[in-house]
Amino acid sequence: MVVPPVLSRPLRETAPVGDSLGRPLRDLRISVTDRCNFRCVYCMPKEIFGRDFQFLERSALLTFEEIAWLARIFVSLGVEKLRITGGEPLVRRDVEQLVAQLVAIDGVRDLAMTTNGALLADRAEALRAAGLRRVTVSLDSLDDSVFQAMNDVGFPVARVLDGIEAAAAAGLAPVKVNMVVKRGVNDQSVLSMAERFRGSGHILRFIEYMDVGHTNGWRMDDVVPSAEVLRIIGAELPLLPIDPNYTGEVAERWRYVDAGNDDAGEIGVISSVTRAFCSDCSRARLSTEGKLYTCLFATQGFDFRALLRDGSDDERISDYLAAIWLQRGDRYSEIRSEHTATLPKIEMSYIGG
Ligand code: SAM
Repeated sequence: MVVPPVLSRPLRETAPVGDSLGRPLRDLRISVTDRCNFRCVYCMPKEIFGRDFQFLERSALLTFEEIAWLARIFVSLGVEKLRITGGEPLVRRDVEQLVAQLVAIDGVRDLAMTTNGALLADRAEALRAAGLRRVTVSLDSLDDSVFQAMNDVGFPVARVLDGIEAAAAAGLAPVKVNMVVKRGVNDQSVLSMAERFRGSGHILRFIEYMDVGHTNGWRMDDVVPSAEVLRIIGAELPLLPIDPNYTGEVAERWRYVDAGNDDAGEIGVISSVTRAFCSDCSRARLSTEGKLYTCLFATQGFDFRALLRDGSDDERISDYLAAIWLQRGDRYSEIRSEHTATLPKIEMSYIGG
């Protein structure tokens, strides 16, 4: 276990905890599996995550009870928003049971899930009934040949669209739709995606392709800057910037200017590469096996499973967490360079997207 420095004051009295750059701990992303039913070329390329890849053993995974136990402690130190992710969270059996346990925690103001949507059409109602509030669905193109080349398992667009509609019908709304834009791969799909979701009630967000992990062969040349995405869309569908919903919101919001249609809606751009938002980052990530990462681009985590399983009480776990957060100084996206891109960073499928 990586041991943070011993601190001299009672840590729970400091909640909400601020890190060394004054950033509070507000959001926790929880990865419930390192497995996925897609092999997106920019995330889990088949050459690495093929038949021989050793995924975590079941006994290594945190149980739902362990996750909920930890989540309660995180909430006591300031976390208000929880997001269930992975890997693909819907491949973890009975994840609805985890939803129910998390939503019951006093102080949780938002509970969301990020999913590729493949299994969503059948699960949306059960997830809503269990207490899930919102979903974000990843979809990189409406063109089947592009999308299938990207997910690399031949999964059709139509079934993801079914999942999105089922989620909205179940009340998991507004549904956010995330599109990672990679130059020369799906940048030609930007405008058709905007047109498809404009006025739909769903919020489309364009994500800059990032150098997460170290298996996707990231190059700066592959990144389509958000400014370019906005130019492509704005040339056909005029846009105006709008205020963030809250401090630290990762997406910059733009609304369609459409005199004839008040419900044209909005889009978001997430510019982690060209306009880093580290200064407001209040997110921690809990891996499937209970390691805490204080940055998406981290190279090492802090082992909470060991504490959960060695008889530690809430106070000890809470002190450990607070000590980690108090010394946090991560700001990877602000110091990114061609050199940092090759660091042995943790894979997104493991750490949780
Ligand atoms: N399986 C779920 C899904 O597909 O949404 C959750 C996990 S996935 C890792 C979470 C999000 O991260 C997806 O929207 C995915 O497109 C995005 N993502 C993965 N690798 C990325 C990269 N290199 N750059 C930007 N976004 C990435």
